[in-house]
Amino acid sequence: MKTAPIPLEEAERLLFSRVPKPAVETIPIQVAAGRILATSARADADQPPFNRAMMDGYAVRSVDGDEPMFEPVDDIPAGKKSTRTVGSGQCARIMTGAPLPEGADAIQQIEKTEQVAGRVRLLDSVKAGHNVAPKGSEARRGDVVLAAPRVLRPQDLAVLASVGVVRVPVFRAPTCAVISTGDELVDPSKNPGPGRIRNTNGISVPAQVRRLGIACDSLPSAPDRMKELRARIRQGLKRDVLILSGGVSAGDRDLVVPALEAEGVKTTLHQVLIRPGRPIFFGSRGRHVVFGLPGNPVSAFVTFEALVRPFLGRMMGYDGLGARRLRARLAAPLAKKMERTVFWPATLSSSAEGPVVATLPWKSSADLATLARADALAIQPRGTTMDADSWVEVVLLD
Ligand code: AMP
Ligand code: MG
Repeated sequence: MKTAPIPLEEAERLLFSRVPKPAVETIPIQVAAGRILATSARADADQPPFNRAMMDGYAVRSVDGDEPMFEPVDDIPAGKKSTRTVGSGQCARIMTGAPLPEGADAIQQIEKTEQVAGRVRLLDSVKAGHNVAPKGSEARRGDVVLAAPRVLRPQDLAVLASVGVVRVPVFRAPTCAVISTGDELVDPSKNPGPGRIRNTNGISVPAQVRRLGIACDSLPSAPDRMKELRARIRQGLKRDVLILSGGVSAGDRDLVVPALEAEGVKTTLHQVLIRPGRPIFFGSRGRHVVFGLPGNPVSAFVTFEALVRPFLGRMMGYDGLGARRLRARLAAPLAKKMERTVFWPATLSSSAEGPVVATLPWKSSADLATLARADALAIQPRGTTMDADSWVEVVLLD
């Protein structure tokens, strides 16, 4: 099946409408960092659960003002609930984190008190509520304390722990396999003979996948022969996502799409108007999805960042994860209209007016050295020119 090249925006719409709904699994909180919370967490009790002292000092009744002398009736460390009621003219020594005793409604910090013959004098009067975090002031029982979806950071795990969520509902990460194709490929550890090249996509593409926290099998590369290619594809289709590189154009030796179709994969799109990397395949078989990336190493890298990464982010239940985009001002104009949307390797810097992006001189779409110097890709939409200082969308690489 041949499909006509389509604009990037249309490819994104098509792709993102086909993202399989992520499954939810429950994992121990100790291993949840970096995973994506699937269900919002709610407070299991008021937070704080009691009127909590925010300072070391003396709990008093604010109506007593600052005179004359307070009689200490208790000493309350954190973790202990006082059984005494603080009456008029009385106070209780209290430590940060302890529950305020009955009768008292404020705390004067220790530095603003002095002891005189076993009694306590306040150097300043206090208003009701002074140095006290009232019960329920941080959250009421049932309030959302952490909204899903979000990537869980250590501080988020602390919030979960504070409400007793120690088995955490997270989206299951998809599993992935990568296959490089091409008769010319040799393992990077080998010296390529005449006409052969080292397989670099077999290293970079799995690394791009793993950076998202997704486990990835790097399968041995496949030659441009139908039988071997189909066998390797069958192996790769055991995973949720199969990514191939090379062999997706329309040349005689480009067997990836016919091999996929022979294995029952249905084509969604085959060519996208982006540069580098026009030939890019997406299809599916049941709940398994397949990407075919161009073999050219820069094209494979860029098409992954442009389309595969946001797709995988959505598969993991979180739009923002895959995107990593921002807007920046162009350091120099992009004066030539392009027939395809171009992803220019670029460097980012900052200025008073916001981030600035400078495109790098680019020798060819096989120019890995320039790609390695880039920390961003600047997007020039097809059919447009852009002035210096205009705002462009940028894909962050780091
Ligand atoms: P293809 O998309 O198969 O026509 O390949 C386009 C170009 O990328 C050719 O020059 C290939 O030799 C090169 N190429 C394909 N696959 C790889 C790979 N895995 N690693 C490095 N270069 C590759
Ligand atoms: Mg090839």
